[in-house]
Amino acid sequence: MSLEMLEIIAKEMNVAEHIRNWKQYSPFETLIRTILSQNTTDKNAFAAFDNLKAKFNNQINPETLAYADTAKIQDAIRVAGLHNQKSQRIKEVSKIIYFNWKSDFSFIYKAPLQNARKKLTELPGIGKKTADVLLNFCAKRPILPVDTHITRISKRIGLVSEKAKYDEIRHSIEALIPNDKILYIHVALIFFGRKICKATVPICSSCPINHLCPKNGVKKSK
Ligand code: SF4
Repeated sequence: MSLEMLEIIAKEMNVAEHIRNWKQYSPFETLIRTILSQNTTDKNAFAAFDNLKAKFNNQINPETLAYADTAKIQDAIRVAGLHNQKSQRIKEVSKIIYFNWKSDFSFIYKAPLQNARKKLTELPGIGKKTADVLLNFCAKRPILPVDTHITRISKRIGLVSEKAKYDEIRHSIEALIPNDKILYIHVALIFFGRKICKATVPICSSCPINHLCPKNGVKKSK
């Protein structure tokens, strides 16, 4: 039943072209973009990243940001909000990546998946979702990043219990789909969460899986 729902969502959201048109970012750029995206919209996070690039002459790399003046980073990323906290975080992770890792991200492609994930999550302020974004988006590893949309939808459609945490949700979806469809399903679920199965006002009446969903007609953010 859950697989059927995921297949319908994937078909209806039709995100293949969106993914094809994605600009590829380096692992370090992806990391910086995810830090900027915390607690703000994609639009503001993208604007902050572009400002940062402009401020540092398109040199978004660990060395440049490790040596950068924090106030200069802060000024560039203001539009993303929490600019004080985010600039410190950017500086901190850049220093670790430059001085300790020697700017080497090759482990995300080669190391056993859980080892690579552990190393990424040892960076200050970098959680499982950000690590999984890097591993899947940049290194094409078979791991599904779980965001708030995916968490909410998985619970509403009955794929996992209300109490399920990050890794249980991730495993439950990964178990249903082939590895080469993980990115596609990730993006399709996010689109579905933004357009139809919204947090506070889900549009159940025009939802393509309302005939299968146990929460059809739900009113609150559950
Ligand atoms: S029927 Fe409503 S709660 Fe269920 S998936 Fe569709 S929008 Fe979400």
